Amino acid sequence: MVEINRTYHLEIIDIGHNGEGIGKIDGFTIFTEGGIPGDLLKVKITLVKKNYALGQLMEILTPSPYRVEAKCPVADICGGCQIMHMDYQAQLDLKKIRVAETMKRIGKIDPIIHPTLGMENPYEYRNKAQFPVGISNGKAILGFYQRGSHDIVDINYCHIQHPINEGVAKTIKEYIEKYKVPVYDEKTRKGLIRHVVTRRGYTTGEVMVIIITNGNDLPHKSALIEGLKKEVPQLESLVQNINKENTNKIFGRVTKTLYGSDTIVDYIGDLKFLISPQSFFQVNPLQTKALYDKALEYASLTGDEVVFDIYCGIGTISLFLAQKAKKVIGVEVVEAAIEDAKRNANINNLTNTEFYTGEAEKVVPHLYKKGMKADVVVVDPPRKGCEEAVLETIVNMEPQRIVYVSCNPATLARDLAYLDEKGYKALEVQPVDMFPHTVHVETVVALYKKD
Ligand code: SAH
Repeated sequence: MVEINRTYHLEIIDIGHNGEGIGKIDGFTIFTEGGIPGDLLKVKITLVKKNYALGQLMEILTPSPYRVEAKCPVADICGGCQIMHMDYQAQLDLKKIRVAETMKRIGKIDPIIHPTLGMENPYEYRNKAQFPVGISNGKAILGFYQRGSHDIVDINYCHIQHPINEGVAKTIKEYIEKYKVPVYDEKTRKGLIRHVVTRRGYTTGEVMVIIITNGNDLPHKSALIEGLKKEVPQLESLVQNINKENTNKIFGRVTKTLYGSDTIVDYIGDLKFLISPQSFFQVNPLQTKALYDKALEYASLTGDEVVFDIYCGIGTISLFLAQKAKKVIGVEVVEAAIEDAKRNANINNLTNTEFYTGEAEKVVPHLYKKGMKADVVVVDPPRKGCEEAVLETIVNMEPQRIVYVSCNPATLARDLAYLDEKGYKALEVQPVDMFPHTVHVETVVALYKKD
């Protein structure tokens, strides 16, 4: 047992879900901010609970061999990247180990686990940026929330975002200062400009800027448009979204296009997608392609199969599969996403898709009762994994193969254990690095019917 306020030497052996370093003292688990595996730290214990304690980092006694200098000067305080100060290959290894250990510990299964698919250049990969806007000492600031708080860190350049954001941020700050446009204050709920969101088509370079306001009118609109056009020549669309609610949600209900188109275009592989201000679109298009190529490979389609794509979002995977399948049936709970999925199927001339709106745990059993069956099933659920009713129905449909795409190894392993018991064996597991410098890992798994 450790004592509060005492200092200890702590060797970091793992990283937790929020990027905190994890070590053990006499078998007792200690969490501390700022440590990476291989570090020997001096920590002061600040909280002791039954099963764990929190330690405050006092000094790095021996730095981990995987420690590098983070490219970003505010990596330590910004809530965005948690492991930028870790060598990239070590990040990829860490993610593979995390997946492998979870499969063993929670799933009690032993599939082949491939090395994490990483990026050649793990920077500037995001196609969407969300900046809260604030004011500090009379100057407009625009950046990211500090880790664990709503204080804004003013950032001029973010290394995982595209450089166009620099121009957008600069223009908006100048506009706010020049025209004395009031900035929104969360506490008093007064002021106009709340957030700036940018979206960029990776292959097309088209840029959409969205200004979220706590009011209907945006003063000096044309000056803002001219400023942005000058600074960001690829500007395709400027949109205002109105959010007068007292909420942490960024977007409100009303959207007005102030300049250019209502949507921008991007491609993943040969498929074209229209992106609206609020449509969901994977944030790392290069790695999305790598992930979906894997999913398609694991689905091993010949052209004769009926495929279910459960939790299909805007139908990205569905359309990928539709190019190689007889028919694809997509299921998703968000109505607007299903509308996007149908529109995306149309603009890509894919006529062999059907989309259903509703909770997968209700819709999939309902479709099965009506007699629908699947030769191959793909699932890509949210963090909490699949509801048992979904897994049970998949098993009843007796597909030859199941492809499981997951953003949470723990619920993935739980669901794979269930499927293993019901006759589906996980053969291969491929971790993919969708979010370099963060602790997140995406995984795709190939399961086969045991015969
Ligand atoms: N496959 C998609 C997105 C997967 S993200 C893509 O690649 O783009 C998970 C999706 O599951 C989200 O779109 C979310 O809206 C949806 N979802 C969450 N709970 C659901 C439920 N109970 N039933 C159906 N869909 C759900």
